[in-house]
Amino acid sequence: TIAMVAIDADGRIAAGASTNGMTHKIPGRVGDAAVAGGAVYADSEVGACGSTGDGDAHLRFLPCFQVVEAMRRGIAPREAAEAAIARIARFVPGYVGALFAVDSTGSHAGAAYGWNFQYAIRNASMTQPLVIDIPPL
Ligand code: ASP
Repeated sequence: TIAMVAIDADGRIAAGASTNGMTHKIPGRVGDAAVAGGAVYADSEVGACGSTGDGDAHLRFLPCFQVVEAMRRGIAPREAAEAAIARIARFVPGYVGALFAVDSTGSHAGAAYGWNFQYAIRNASMTQPLVIDIPPL
C-alpha cells in the first residue's frame, strides 16, 4: 500500500491510498485501501494516518480510524500509532504491518510490527523528503 497524507496551507488534511492487494487474494477482494479507517483516515480538526501491511487485519481493526480518534483525545502521534499496531499484533498471529500518524500541527510518528518500516515527510521549508526509519515494536 502507498498511503499519503497532505496538509494544505489552510490546514485542510487529505489522505489517500493505493494498493495492488495481497498475494493470492481471492477474486473480488476489497482491500483496506478502499475502506475508510483501514489504510487511511483523515480529519482536518485532528490529523491523519496511513498504513501498509496485512490489509485483512486492518479491515478488522481499522487502525487508522483508531489512531485519529486517539489523537482527538489528546494522545500524541507516537503513542497513538504504537497502540494501534500493538492491538492488532496482540490478536493476529503472524501480523506484519505498519502505519504513520500525523497531527494537525504536522507532528508525526510511525509504528511497525514484523518488519522495518519507512515513511517520508516533506514540508514547505524542506528541499528534499526526509525518510524516517521505524524499527518493529
Ligand atoms: N494493505 C495491502 C492489502 O492488504 C497490502 C499492502 O500493504 O501492500 O491489500
